[in-house]
Amino acid sequence: MSDANGSAVRELTHFIDGQRTAGASGRYADVFDPAQGRVTARVPVASATEVDAAVAAAKAAFPAWSQTAPLKRARLMFKYKNLLEAHSDELAQLITRDHGKLFEDAKGEVVRGIEIVEFACGIPSLLKTDFTDQTSAGTDAWSLRQPLGVAIGVTPFNFPVVVPCWMFVMAAAVGNTFILKPSERTPTASIRLAELFMEAGFPNGVFNVLHGSKTVVDALIGHPDVAAISAVASTPVAEHIYCESAKQGKRVQALGSAKNHLVVMPDANLDEAVNALINSSYGSAGERCMATSVAVAVGGIGDELIERLALRVRSLRVGDGMHPDLDMGPLISAAHRAKVLGYITAGVAAGAKLVVDGRGQTVAGHEEGFFLGGSLFDDVKPEMSIYREEIFGPVLSVVRVPDLASAIALVNAHELGNCVSLFTSDGRTARTFSRQIQVGMVGINVPSPVPSAWHSFGGWKRSLFGDHHACGEEAVRFYTRYKSVIQRWPDTFVKGAELPVAVAR
Ligand code: NAD
Repeated sequence: MSDANGSAVRELTHFIDGQRTAGASGRYADVFDPAQGRVTARVPVASATEVDAAVAAAKAAFPAWSQTAPLKRARLMFKYKNLLEAHSDELAQLITRDHGKLFEDAKGEVVRGIEIVEFACGIPSLLKTDFTDQTSAGTDAWSLRQPLGVAIGVTPFNFPVVVPCWMFVMAAAVGNTFILKPSERTPTASIRLAELFMEAGFPNGVFNVLHGSKTVVDALIGHPDVAAISAVASTPVAEHIYCESAKQGKRVQALGSAKNHLVVMPDANLDEAVNALINSSYGSAGERCMATSVAVAVGGIGDELIERLALRVRSLRVGDGMHPDLDMGPLISAAHRAKVLGYITAGVAAGAKLVVDGRGQTVAGHEEGFFLGGSLFDDVKPEMSIYREEIFGPVLSVVRVPDLASAIALVNAHELGNCVSLFTSDGRTARTFSRQIQVGMVGINVPSPVPSAWHSFGGWKRSLFGDHHACGEEAVRFYTRYKSVIQRWPDTFVKGAELPVAVAR
């Protein structure tokens, strides 16, 4: 296929029961190269029949897979880890092509995905449970963690490798089978993840990929053979998925939007704080759930902070993510770019001071690309939409507050609570902050407190619906259910001369 200019347009496939499966519904969604602003692929939208086929494949694979010894599953994970490492540049290229983020950034994402697989390689010990000898005479009790069945994952556009890895890797490691419904805007890497999974030796049907959007997600949630749903999405979508799944009695976790603050105390090392803000607010064009969107300047630090930030924001290098020595790539789509532009206009109209205006950004040779420069606002107030709402773009708002208590109150009053950072040189301030702040992931003197694979990942408040965070032992808990077993073998049951057991009581 080719587009209107004669450029090739790839046709993507689902991945069902161990193989690429061409879309049969006749419906497709366009996938763009955001740096070129043109369609490079089209992704099929699954029909109800294709949903049934994917669930049937996952269901058929479950009995044998769930009975496979954890050690065997771990050995396959080791092979998968090696394959992901061998193909990391290829996967990173697929990420950059669909998403636009810098190639180096995409490589970092693949490393994060591999870390989840490394964690899953230890699944035999993670599945160990507790045992009580002699709960009463001749009776022992223990617990089992057993897999749930067919689990599904709904993932956002901004991390096409690592967020799926949070889900399918951990779900499969503990014995579930899985259907990934990736973002229709960045779907290409998911197919490669599935192919490499098969190459590692996992059985057919353990990991499937099905494309589409709301109708496909709703059909999967409503399918009687689907047991559990993990989602990462914007808050309205996460809430919808959580409510629909819970209504049907299914296990569900749904991570939502973010509006992350970075609090700069007057005693902070300002060089470090400014570096952190530049990386965290403008890296990946602000399209990270761990991006800082609000800098909270405490005491009298605001003027110097703004001055230093402005210099750096003006010099951000923007371009095609495959080119070296850049700070930011494009935004994901024309529509999203328009939305971010709308927030900048609204901020100006509401009276915030636009210190750096990124709206005029162009990139030579990429005139149709979805680029935006970095923008910086000062004097932002909590009632403004640029403060309240998630922008998900390269726009940083500075809010000034008099002291630590006001900074904590500000952050705690926001309805979202994904992550937060504090920059200070005082341990007591840091301790008070990390204990009092109502946010799921907290950093002290770090730009984005992204937990390692063996810790849990998740926000508080309307940044997460459900009882479990993603990753780490939380993922083991989410993807298994607990069974309590009590067994009694009294002496009277001992039969036959071959078992002359004198059991000590
Ligand atoms: P999105 O909500 O538009 O879509 C996310 C997924 O949900 C996609 O797979 C999409 O196809 C599906 N979807 C969209 N509308 C749906 C509906 N009505 N019903 C069911 N499914 C639907 O999000 P996005 O723009 O792809 O990703 C960005 C968002 O994800 C941001 O809000 C960001 O904060 C959030 N995010 C959160 C985290 C986290 O850890 N909390 C991580 C990454 C991204």
